[in-house]
Amino acid sequence: MKYQLFRSIVAGVFVYVLVSCAGRSTAPLPTPSLTVSSTAQPTPTHLATATPKPPSTAVPNPSPLPSPSSLPRATIVIPTQVVNTPTVAAERRYTFPVRSRGAIRYGRYHHDYPATDIFCPVGSEFVAVTSGVVDFVSREDHWVATVNDGATRGGLAVAIIGDDGVRYYGSHLSAVAEDIQVGTRVVVGQLLGRTGKSGDAANTAPHLHFGISHPTTPDDWAMRRGEIAPYPYLQQWQHGKDVAPTLAS
Ligand SMILES: [Zn+2]
Repeated sequence: MKYQLFRSIVAGVFVYVLVSCAGRSTAPLPTPSLTVSSTAQPTPTHLATATPKPPSTAVPNPSPLPSPSSLPRATIVIPTQVVNTPTVAAERRYTFPVRSRGAIRYGRYHHDYPATDIFCPVGSEFVAVTSGVVDFVSREDHWVATVNDGATRGGLAVAIIGDDGVRYYGSHLSAVAEDIQVGTRVVVGQLLGRTGKSGDAANTAPHLHFGISHPTTPDDWAMRRGEIAPYPYLQQWQHGKDVAPTLAS
């Protein structure tokens, strides 16, 4: 019984297979269905699934985008600085007479007559406190201690007459700038020379003797070395304020 039942089942299955095979061979549609399935591109589906991951990986890319936005910021900052610097420089009419990488110090008083000794390392820059014309240049040190002639005490020195009509004198220099001659037009902040110990500063701490006076004759060294106290003006110029010296008429 079991064997006959088994045979009938096998026979039935065989017939079913024949019929189903015949049916498929008759209908070429399955092929198109394969084509369709290939058109459906299960692969793309996988790609699509994989695609979401790259986007998540691509998310860091959008985050780099903010950094480009930070780049424009840096680009903005630079021109701002460039714009500010010349603007400030152009607005200044007066500046402190010494530029130095070392320490600068000076006091309110000067021995014997109004002037200021600005102590600073040898080689510091002596610059024009305001725009004007070079009035006096001494490139050689003729001072002799035993003689101590007042006219030579300054050693190497430069003086200018500013556009404000005031004479500015700096002495005890170690060098005079090459392009500085009597009559040379200079602008505020222009290098006039290097500070040092020439003249009667040979045996003192290096400093720039700075004097403010009326324009005078070349032989009037006593007035030219200083007529009014520069101290209050040095203080103003050092803090970026443009204040013109006032000379007694
Ligand atoms: Zn002095």
